[in-house]
Amino acid sequence: MDNVFLSYNDPLVSIFILITLVLSVSLLTHLFGNLKKEKQQKKLENFLETFESKDCSLDFDIIPFSSSLLQPLRLLALAFQKNGEYHKAIPLYLYLIKNNHEKSYHDEFLKELASTYLKSGLMARAKSTLVSLLEISPRDTKALYLLQIIYEMLHQYKDADEISRSLKILGEDTTQLEAHFRFFEILNSKSFSPDEKTDLLIALSSTHKSFYRQVLHTLFKLDVSKAWEFIDDKRIIESLDIFWTLPASKINFDIIEKTENQPLKAIFMAREIIPYDKNIKSNIFEIDTILSARNSGKNDIDIQFNYFCPSCKAEFPLAYNRCPSCYSIDKFILKKRLEQKIELENYSLL
Ligand SMILES: [Zn+2]
Repeated sequence: MDNVFLSYNDPLVSIFILITLVLSVSLLTHLFGNLKKEKQQKKLENFLETFESKDCSLDFDIIPFSSSLLQPLRLLALAFQKNGEYHKAIPLYLYLIKNNHEKSYHDEFLKELASTYLKSGLMARAKSTLVSLLEISPRDTKALYLLQIIYEMLHQYKDADEISRSLKILGEDTTQLEAHFRFFEILNSKSFSPDEKTDLLIALSSTHKSFYRQVLHTLFKLDVSKAWEFIDDKRIIESLDIFWTLPASKINFDIIEKTENQPLKAIFMAREIIPYDKNIKSNIFEIDTILSARNSGKNDIDIQFNYFCPSCKAEFPLAYNRCPSCYSIDKFILKKRLEQKIELENYSLL
């Protein structure tokens, strides 16, 4: 018995017991961790199966799964998605998720599936897919960005804001995103009066200069007088489309007649809102061309505007706050093109 206690008092035995305890705890933690992951994985598969039964129009039972199929099928699904054939891309992704168990691929397929649901307008499915993925991989920034877009589309700005905070903790630069959601929060808030909204939007624009055009456009809807006061004389060209298409009821004739801002005056001269003055030059190619043509008796030139996304290089006929194609919040580039004027005076859809 004394020998046992002697052994117990031996420092080597104590170290051995300590190592055994540490190893046992690590093993148990690992086992519980795996069990938890398996449970979450099973939950996710069951969840996706609820979509599968409705969406799968292709019979995948005849395709024996092999890891060599991963890349070709993924490329095929991406091609379907790019061509807008979402009903074909979705079953492919569901098949890949069900059969592949390699985590890195699995998470990518889930994000691509969620993105396809998002593109096809199935917001609830896109949201549920991403929430399930984030339960397993809460630090997945791409999934967080996608979920944030969905919250924005569902007008759930507080949830979108919370995601910005998570992204910030993960080291992402969220300065523009926070301002972007602040803009929508102000605009859609029921607790602010129209006056408070305009003041808050002007304040937002003073701290985030890139929001100038967005705020000017909104002010013309909320408070025309404040919009005219807000105009920055040095930033006329970036809002050319707003001035070019501004309805007559929103034009402040007093300001445009008295202003010494030549580009602003020239725009309304080119629109024939105020009389022509050959001494006024805008230094905006399209406006000066229209004025020169008008001076020579040619009166049939108009400006066509397009909105170019610097991230995905797509062009759109309407202005946007988030690119409809790649969902970037980078500001668009205003593209201008001279074209033959189409007279719409007698135009009617009836
Ligand atoms: Zn884009």
